[in-house]
Amino acid sequence: MTATIAAIIWALGVIGWVAIRQPHQRRARKLKTVTDARSWSDRLALGFASACLSIVPLVYVLTGAPAFADYEFHPWMGWLGLAVQVAFLCLFYASHRQLGKNWSITLEIRDKHELVTDGLYRFVRHPMYSSFWLWAIAQALLIPNWIAGLAGLVGVAVLYLMRVGPEEAMMRKTFGAAYDEYARRTGRVVPRIFG
Ligand code: SAH
Repeated sequence: MTATIAAIIWALGVIGWVAIRQPHQRRARKLKTVTDARSWSDRLALGFASACLSIVPLVYVLTGAPAFADYEFHPWMGWLGLAVQVAFLCLFYASHRQLGKNWSITLEIRDKHELVTDGLYRFVRHPMYSSFWLWAIAQALLIPNWIAGLAGLVGVAVLYLMRVGPEEAMMRKTFGAAYDEYARRTGRVVPRIFG
């Protein structure tokens, strides 16, 4: 495992991200929305996170900038990064499939929106955001640079902190006691082990 192969693995992750999301985005455009809780701050956070997960590391892979922030690459980082990235893609794919027509890139309630509580959603309320955290960890392992490698973690942290509160408030407003009960038995991004 070399740094170049690690960079190629990272790039394949971005291609996987686009390929998995594409059909859902196309379908979502045709679906009716009944509650639109999108805000400018959410859109900004989404754009910021996307840039941190794609453009910043892409500039590094193509140009080596910012070279002053490089750290040493070890083969184990590449192997571990590969494993984490595979886990990201599996979780990202499965959460899209399980949310189905209820998925949205932002905060929306669809016409005939159903509360999904099975599959991955039986254990965690935000498996797609869990997958984003894994993606950011993979980036830090595959891109040996303090800025380009860690940018993903900063981007995901900002998006997660801006998004999860308003999203849960929107779900609670729509599904009431059913969501309260669901939230009591699930974790946010990691399964609740101790009850
Ligand atoms: N936070 C979830 C979903 C991300 S997609 C995850 O990380 O897996 C965002 C959209 O999913 C929101 O607009 C919301 O309407 C919808 N959503 C979130 N949780 C849901 C659930 N349990 N059932 C149905 N729709 C859900």
